[in-house]
Amino acid sequence: MRVYNFSAGPATLPEEVLKKAGSELLCYGSSGQSVMEMSHRSKEYGEIISGCESLIREVMSVPDNYKVLFIQGGASMQFAMVPLNLMKNNKADFVITGQWATKAYQEAKLFIAANEVASSKDKTYSYIPDLDKSKFQPDADYFHICLNNTIFGTRFTQLPDTGDVPLVADVSSCILSEPLDVSKFGILYAGAQKNMGPAGVAVVIVREDLIRDFPSDSKVPTMLRYKTYADDNSMYNTPPTYTIYMVKLVLEWVKSKGGLSAMKEHNEKKAKILYDFLDSSKLFSATVVGNERSLMNVPFVTGNDELDKNFIKQAKEKGFINLGGHRSIGGMRASIYNAMPIEGVEKLVEFMKNFEANI
Ligand SMILES: *Cc1c(COP(=O)(O)O)cnc(C)c1O
Repeated sequence: MRVYNFSAGPATLPEEVLKKAGSELLCYGSSGQSVMEMSHRSKEYGEIISGCESLIREVMSVPDNYKVLFIQGGASMQFAMVPLNLMKNNKADFVITGQWATKAYQEAKLFIAANEVASSKDKTYSYIPDLDKSKFQPDADYFHICLNNTIFGTRFTQLPDTGDVPLVADVSSCILSEPLDVSKFGILYAGAQKNMGPAGVAVVIVREDLIRDFPSDSKVPTMLRYKTYADDNSMYNTPPTYTIYMVKLVLEWVKSKGGLSAMKEHNEKKAKILYDFLDSSKLFSATVVGNERSLMNVPFVTGNDELDKNFIKQAKEKGFINLGGHRSIGGMRASIYNAMPIEGVEKLVEFMKNFEANI
């Protein structure tokens, strides 16, 4: 029996996608082989990776002057690739809204001067800080935000106006969850394992003018240059072939459901069910208030660690798994990505009501 999996990542995938992958596991089309066994240089695989790219472009309305790259190393490797590829004045701006934003900031410091524009650390990252434009550096190489904060459950609802400075966003936990105006960004990057597929690849959407050549004496490793991926359609070396195939199936599923506006509607509905309950409950409360609440990751607490543990344990017994908060903060967190059906959230709320009534 399949459970309702509220994991923050790797996360639940649409059942239709898993069934389709299962039906093609031994033999993909008329190829007589599994996608896992295929040469990445074969015609069949060429169609899979270019089909995946086209679907990302179509579903996300990616403008023509952007490249879509498939890169291993997860979102975490982008924390280094972004500065390595954009450094010119050797400085960048960061908004510190949680653990991932902090990691991007710290990694950038290996290469350039990282400027903290604002932080919400004073209140355990439970809000998005106001941004004072006088702290933006007009000659920064880029301005970095984490659009949805997976661990703390906040999201930007308004983008900072960075003028000519490229806005770079980590969208690992919100990509494909609602429409996004790609043209507002210099770079968008996301690890696949939250809302796009299994772990193993990051999708990086880069404006072409930010993909630079490196001088012949550059020490930046070949595999850390966007140009390497852009020049070879992400096939300079063997890409994570099966993960990219799975991402393609997920995109086909998103498209068949009506695309990103339909996903937004579906996700807002689910989030409302959960937040409305949390706001009315006498036992449970959401740790984030206001309109910067994430649609994807919903942290909550009872205020009592023992009770939290007991809740997580009982929930697991009933088939609601991975409700523990991130190991750094405890409490609970329900990640309700695209693939989480409405019934999963409705049944979770029903279970929470019963739990509350019975303590
Ligand atoms: C999960 C996550 C990461 C880390 O992703 P990896 O692919 O494991 O490196 C980075 N940023 C955000 C916002 C995340 O949710």
